[in-house]
Amino acid sequence: MDLDTSGGDRIPVRRIYCVGRNYVEHIREMKEGDERDPPFFFQKPGDALVADQGVVPYPPATNDLQYEVELVVAIGGSGRDVPADRALDLVYGYGVGLDMTRRDRQREAGKKGLPWEIGKSFDHSAPCGRIDPVAKVGHPSDAGIRLAVNGVTRQDSNIGLMIWKVPEIVANLSKQYALRRGDLIFTGTPAGVGPVVPGDRLEASIDGLAPLRVNIGPP
Ligand code: MN
Repeated sequence: MDLDTSGGDRIPVRRIYCVGRNYVEHIREMKEGDERDPPFFFQKPGDALVADQGVVPYPPATNDLQYEVELVVAIGGSGRDVPADRALDLVYGYGVGLDMTRRDRQREAGKKGLPWEIGKSFDHSAPCGRIDPVAKVGHPSDAGIRLAVNGVTRQDSNIGLMIWKVPEIVANLSKQYALRRGDLIFTGTPAGVGPVVPGDRLEASIDGLAPLRVNIGPP
């Protein structure tokens, strides 16, 4: 799938990486992990992407589908083992994403010490709005981030509260994988996560970036 960008580029999505536990208040609401743990990553399939105004069919194998609004970093360059002070050179732009989660399956897997994959890496689990290039929006580091369900605000925070900032995330991830153009990084969610059901309308926003609107469809 291609990313929609406001820079006139078409970027084929290669991989989707996600950061776990990157806002203190979300770690506390989940009652798991240590706030001082280093960042850790998981992946979603590249074709799990859903564009703005798309539909997320309610997935099988869960009774607790939840939203997580996140800043998305779109990688435009190539690099591995990149130092944090050069990591932003790899960034093409930024967007708003939703790390859709089978929370019941994620919690079960965590208790059993099993991978998170069933909870996180399913079809349509990665809605992502238009990507705005750095040339247009710079590198946002202090901006409101919000998620509303059917017009009611459920998550309301600031990306400045991320434990691990974008340069540190990119640098850390590049020690594990060679980063390439078309990779997306979902950078973690603030507090306020919760369930959705078919028929719900989700509106995700970060000040200064294109909003992301999706509907939850029938199974
Ligand atoms: Mn997440």
